[in-house]
Amino acid sequence: QRYVYVFGAGEADGTAEMSDILGGKGANLAEMASLGLPVPPGFTLTTEVCQYFSRHRSVPDDLEDEVRKAMTSLEAMTGRRFGAAQHSLLLSVRSGARASMPGMMDTILNLGMNDLAVEALAEETGDGRFAWDSYRRFIQMYSDTVLRLDLEFFEEILEEEREKRGRSEDMEMTADDWKAVVARYLEFIEEELGEPFPQDVEIQLRGAIRAVLGSWMNPRAIAFRALHGLQEQEGTAVNIQAMVFGNRDDRSATGVCFTREPNTGEKTLYGEYLPRAQGEDVVSGLRTPLPLSAQQAHGHSGNGAECSMEVAFPDAYAELKAVAGRLEAHYGDMQDIEFTIESGQLYILQTRAAKRSAGAALRIAVEMADAGLIDRDDALLRIDPLSLVSLLHASIDPNAERDEIARGLPAAPGAACGQIVFSPDEAAELAERGKKIILVRTETSPEDIHGMSAAEGILTTRGGTTSHAAVVARGMGKPCVSGAGTLRVDYAAKTLSTMGRTFSEGDLITIDGTSGEVFAGGMTMRKPQLSEDFQTILQWADAARRMKVRTNIDVAGDADLARDFGAEGIGLCRTEHMFFEDGRILAMRQLILAETDRDRESALLTLLPSQRDDFIELFEQMAGFPVTIRLLDPPFHEFLPQSDEELQETADLLNVPVEKIEFRAETLLETNPMLGHRGVRVAISYPAIPEMQVRAIFEAAVEAGRRTGRQVKPEIMLPLVSLQREVDFVREIIDRVGREVMKETGASVEYTVGILIELPRAAVRARLIAESCDFFSFGTNDLTQTVFGISRDDAAQFLETYRQAGIVEANPFITLDVEGVGEMIKIACEKGRSVKADLMTGICGEHAGDPKSIEFCEQTGLDYVSCSPFRVPIARLAAAQAAL
Ligand code: ADP
Ligand code: MG
Ligand code: MG
Repeated sequence: QRYVYVFGAGEADGTAEMSDILGGKGANLAEMASLGLPVPPGFTLTTEVCQYFSRHRSVPDDLEDEVRKAMTSLEAMTGRRFGAAQHSLLLSVRSGARASMPGMMDTILNLGMNDLAVEALAEETGDGRFAWDSYRRFIQMYSDTVLRLDLEFFEEILEEEREKRGRSEDMEMTADDWKAVVARYLEFIEEELGEPFPQDVEIQLRGAIRAVLGSWMNPRAIAFRALHGLQEQEGTAVNIQAMVFGNRDDRSATGVCFTREPNTGEKTLYGEYLPRAQGEDVVSGLRTPLPLSAQQAHGHSGNGAECSMEVAFPDAYAELKAVAGRLEAHYGDMQDIEFTIESGQLYILQTRAAKRSAGAALRIAVEMADAGLIDRDDALLRIDPLSLVSLLHASIDPNAERDEIARGLPAAPGAACGQIVFSPDEAAELAERGKKIILVRTETSPEDIHGMSAAEGILTTRGGTTSHAAVVARGMGKPCVSGAGTLRVDYAAKTLSTMGRTFSEGDLITIDGTSGEVFAGGMTMRKPQLSEDFQTILQWADAARRMKVRTNIDVAGDADLARDFGAEGIGLCRTEHMFFEDGRILAMRQLILAETDRDRESALLTLLPSQRDDFIELFEQMAGFPVTIRLLDPPFHEFLPQSDEELQETADLLNVPVEKIEFRAETLLETNPMLGHRGVRVAISYPAIPEMQVRAIFEAAVEAGRRTGRQVKPEIMLPLVSLQREVDFVREIIDRVGREVMKETGASVEYTVGILIELPRAAVRARLIAESCDFFSFGTNDLTQTVFGISRDDAAQFLETYRQAGIVEANPFITLDVEGVGEMIKIACEKGRSVKADLMTGICGEHAGDPKSIEFCEQTGLDYVSCSPFRVPIARLAAAQAAL
């Protein structure tokens, strides 16, 4: 077992591929050293040392020997000796895990400094100010990270000394000033700890190594890993490296450089630097850093181009530019580089793949592929599909003033501001008059659709990310914050209140559905932009993927948008929302309340033409693409009037007594409606309903075929199936009505019949069921509910507890539970295909827009994924990545 890897002088033991054991920083330092770039020499302790340390609270026995050997070669490369009285070697001791955790763990600079070394360094450089400044920096950092003393005490001392000496800035401090500060620091430490600051450099090094190893488990780092889903057991490497001094003299500086502009992706050196400074000064905010290039200086507040590194350090700048180009070409990606100039000589201290905005990521991927730096597959793999979300929606201007009043779940992305409105009817009315509305509800239901579609955004105080509000809002591409539990909605008083603040109907609020935040007042927005690069990447993705990408829609009007986003068909058209529009809800209520066949018939006669019109519009818009229509799914009672007002209105219009409606509503009431009288079960108890829907579908197919000159092949889907006989029962109706319509119209319509698999029984009996149908579509929202036996409306709370306790890794309603629900899908596919080789399979439901779940779909050989319109671009890219 080897614990130490050396780098420097044009060679290295490690490579960039070894980030598992060397950490990202260490692996790249090794790589850069091998490339012959000016990297100060050093060595890296592997992440295994940290793993060992986390288990035993001590380092492995062999480590000390290996470190001593590495130190000898480091001394040879630098011509300096660690702990020597003259020409002593000074070190940085830096953390660095596999994944970047910026600023989360400890780094100590100038290690090896002590009372002797500082005098020698002052003499060697002829600059006491630099030497004593370096010493006091070391004492501060070491006291903070190793001795665990509060930095505030040191700042206080420094402040006092500065004042006493009349220095307004650190830059004005003289050698004697710093010397005095150091003396007070050392005195303070001895007082606090009862022993002097360690002068023995070996003790310093051991202390620093332990501190860096220990910083892996500091609360900050633990929280960061939890937030970013990083593995707890990996550990950090420790990089021990010869110091270079950006604070040495006026020809010295330190800075950070991006090889492209991180917001726009423009190919230009971009970054900041500080003359006469050490690394941490750039980020500390004590001094304002200066721009790198002269071009960048134009946009920079304050000084002009002459303050830029390009003008002030022309040689180092030219060299940095060359290094940046080389690193970019070598890694095939935009880099974020730390550098230091010591007396005019450039050193590179770190490089890593740079963070960039979603828009910049697209531009850079396209430009690098076009320039031949990477191939198109790489370009596709570079882009996080989920990052596209921010490009498809408006966002809050980052400079806007923020008055946060609550935080809910990020249910549907994008931001919106508008007036608070509590009633969907009022929302629709006000929107008609050109007002911008945020619909605020405790939760929403299908009858609120018109209000939701009129609103700019939706805010609910209850419900999770798969609640009705969330699913519908995502489908509509509207921002939604759900489950903002600290807000109280009072419908009667028409107020929204939280912690002593009350907002009334008409007040402005802003919601951010990407983050879940809710703000008081109207904020400025940034418009979404679909760049040419966006289109290019998606075209490349289309060429690379196997699975088709379809979309889920509720109303025909949404199809247009979905086509713009590249949807190749409809995987799920939910018909129930069509029944909530305009006067149709009344006919629907008449249907449900009907006691005689005549009543039922007349209701169906009202519903048929409107349903047919919807389907004609849909088929026309999707001409040439497959369209799957799901027969009525929700339980009946959802269609019944809810308020007294509505009850009276319905009674009047239908000319029946209120009591009758109330009685009927009572009989329809179910304890557990989600597992109740719904889906295919309704079709079987009221065959007139599927009959009407199927007739509408066939008649529309004929008509749309006539209008567009293209054959329409409807796919009819039955929800909540668990038995083969259920399918046979409804299929008989479909075949019969189909024959009738074809006979009446003289046209022929090709169609298929399939089922939504959302119950375990359908999956395990898929062999038999496949005999009776042509396709399976996995309704993974409901399937997750029924496989786990958890309700998606209530699971949010305990699932979070589960996640924090490490019992589940992710919310199974967001990322498909591959082991359980996925296994169910696999079983159904295998069984289904065993009787029908060409059985078509797809997935609808929220998972169809989630990249990790899409990867599973590709592996399982599904034919398509079908997601909400705004997820279509994400699914196109994710499907390509899964296929590569
Ligand atoms: P982080 O990961 O938090 O950025 P680093 O290990 O990169 O921590 O170090 C923090 C700062 O110290 C950086 O600005 C870096 O440039 C500087 N630094 C690290 N090693 C050296 C060195 N050998 N010589 C000079 N400065 C260094
Ligand atoms: Mg760094
Ligand atoms: Mg369902």
